[in-house]
Amino acid sequence: MLEVLRRVIQEVNGARNLDAALATMVRRIRKAMHTDVCSFYLYDGETQELVLMETIGLHSQAVGHVSLRVGEGLVGLVAEREEPLNLEDAPAHPRFRYFEATGEERYSSFLGVPIIHQRRMLGVLVVQQAEKRRYDEEDEAFLITMGAQLAGVLAHALATGSLSRPALPGGQALFTGVAASPGMAIGEVVVVAPLSDLNSVPDLIPTDVEYEIVRLKEAIERVREEIRAAGERLASRISAQELALFEVYQQMLSEAALSQEVEKRIREGQWAPGALADVVRRHVQYLERVDDDYLRERAADVRDLGRRVLAHLQEETPQIPHVFPESTILVGDEISVATLGEVPRERLAGLVSVRGSSTSHVAIVARAMGVPTVLGMVDLPLPRLSGAEVVLDGHRGRLFVRPSDELKTRYQSLIAEEAALVEVLEHEQDLPSETPDGHVMPLMVNTGLAIDTSVSLKKRISGVGLYRTEVPFMIAERFPGEQEQARLYRDQLESFAPLPVVMRTLDIGGDKDLPYFPIDEANPFLGWRGIRVTLDHPEVLMVQLRAMLRASQGLDNLQILLPMVTNVDEVDDALRMLDRAIRELGEEGIVTPRPRVGVMLEVPATLYQLDALAERVDFFSVGSNDLTQYLLAVDRNNPRVASLYDACHPAVLCAMARLAEDSKRLKKPICVCGEMAGDPAGALLLMGMGFDSLSMNAPSLPRVRAAIRRVSLDAAKTLVHETLALNTPGAVRSHLFARLGEWQLAHLLPPRD
Ligand code: PEP
Ligand code: MG
Repeated sequence: MLEVLRRVIQEVNGARNLDAALATMVRRIRKAMHTDVCSFYLYDGETQELVLMETIGLHSQAVGHVSLRVGEGLVGLVAEREEPLNLEDAPAHPRFRYFEATGEERYSSFLGVPIIHQRRMLGVLVVQQAEKRRYDEEDEAFLITMGAQLAGVLAHALATGSLSRPALPGGQALFTGVAASPGMAIGEVVVVAPLSDLNSVPDLIPTDVEYEIVRLKEAIERVREEIRAAGERLASRISAQELALFEVYQQMLSEAALSQEVEKRIREGQWAPGALADVVRRHVQYLERVDDDYLRERAADVRDLGRRVLAHLQEETPQIPHVFPESTILVGDEISVATLGEVPRERLAGLVSVRGSSTSHVAIVARAMGVPTVLGMVDLPLPRLSGAEVVLDGHRGRLFVRPSDELKTRYQSLIAEEAALVEVLEHEQDLPSETPDGHVMPLMVNTGLAIDTSVSLKKRISGVGLYRTEVPFMIAERFPGEQEQARLYRDQLESFAPLPVVMRTLDIGGDKDLPYFPIDEANPFLGWRGIRVTLDHPEVLMVQLRAMLRASQGLDNLQILLPMVTNVDEVDDALRMLDRAIRELGEEGIVTPRPRVGVMLEVPATLYQLDALAERVDFFSVGSNDLTQYLLAVDRNNPRVASLYDACHPAVLCAMARLAEDSKRLKKPICVCGEMAGDPAGALLLMGMGFDSLSMNAPSLPRVRAAIRRVSLDAAKTLVHETLALNTPGAVRSHLFARLGEWQLAHLLPPRD
């Protein structure tokens, strides 16, 4: 059964459109379960009816014509209860209803399962049998599994509007994801295609058909050559039978086979990589469907050959273009910080990716750059988006493809309103960050990107609360050397001197990969991250500490921050290395004072070891992003659980309040440098709790400053008191929204529907 399941799932996922997926599915299910009928009913949210969309066994004329309300008949009962219904004698059930058009009176047995995607009911999958049959537990489990699989395919089809009812009027399609960086934009999609991935090659109309054919032939020839060479290399080591496979590959690539088909597709109006992907996909689907083990195995070969040819075709077509549209919306499966840096800032209007979530590091960088971003758009049909006009809403996590004129006009005016607000807030940016009752709340910035340092910024802040050193490491091609790092750090320290700059030691791992130092783990956020990596690689940490110290010579505004600390020992080890670095540099004639050292409070264990940590370091900085993910056990990078990730969860707020209190008792300054500090409501809460400073992305400063200048410390303390009494994240958010509304500050919060 497992093998059948796997194959059906492969076929359904590989189907070119929803109709094909549904048709395949019902046929395969009927065959696998040896039953008479398999049907699928789609739930239409607008009419609240279940419509027969596909069947094998019932009258095909009934498709699209038979519909029933939720609760009506057995299918309606499955939808109403959202649970499977298994009946040996269906007509005897009090809710049985007969629909003449389907011809279903002949069927005695019934098994129906609901299709649910992210808690939303999408339809019902049914099998029926003429003679009485008790579907067994395995049948039920099989159908439930199929239903769960179909749920993903359906959700995607609904989102893209590829079901017969368009998702929105006017052919507009709407995709939703996780709001990751605020702002809105109208622009043109540029797809970043991962190399050698046949499923994400964009569709493009060729400008020169003959050229596409020539480069296709060249790429195929190069793969043939590679295979011939590999065959020769292996000739003495593998059996004649295995060697014959190389001959098969050669034949597959020969003029008569693959190449001709791809050429035909190019002439029909598709560029070479797109035509290759189409043809390979079609062959793979066909081969995977046949009931012959040998041929099924060949599917993998065809896919592999396709990838090889694609890799050669992509050698000359860059992963992203050199010329970008004026208003580029960069869209990809996974967009790295490095890719982001390749688009000229003035052309980058927005960012969308299939993976990631609101506190993924690419989101943090996007916020620092002020680029509207939506991540975790799991349903995005990447290849079909290239060149499309879109409206991106980074506040609500939405992407409208082919927007209607009406929608575009609405967004143009929302964008203008937002720009006007930024201009108004700009007027008070040189004023102190001080409450009406005279409490000064120091605001700092998080940096890591070269563009962060600007002259006007320096006058408005109390320093850099977090310099993420890993960002320059991520866009390099190898570990930068001591001199190279020292130059980078000197730039940072000089730009902000005499203000303090808190430099964090390398915090890689989790979702921050270095291309030249890959860390491949099942649970990267619980794995080798931050100080765990650098203590295991003292040579890397030592070079970094020396570079920081060297850079701070004569400026003395350096402070060092240790990320991902779990144990007190780790701090001791890092401090020993720091002292050694100071000593060694001294011996080389470079004398530097010992900088102040702080620990990031982001692993929940540190909450309970604050006294011991306070004995060792000079200050604390709360990484609320990680503290939230670890307290709530929610991967900050996983869009599936994004709705559970909330820094305003009562448990997180309670932990934060306690950290502020304990630090006061221990007389250690404490800052918050996670994203919570850059949210006006979050910032007011943190001020009320007693944090000494807040560090945020520069674009968040105006809103936070405006909030602080309008709310007294007393009012913020009351807000904390009221909020800590609430039990759910929803109640906390509503309360914050209501209070900010009363204080006439709702416009500082992200817009809501
Ligand atoms: C945090 O965890 O809150 C933090 C500031 O660090 P990062 O987001 O880089 O993990
Ligand atoms: Mg962190």
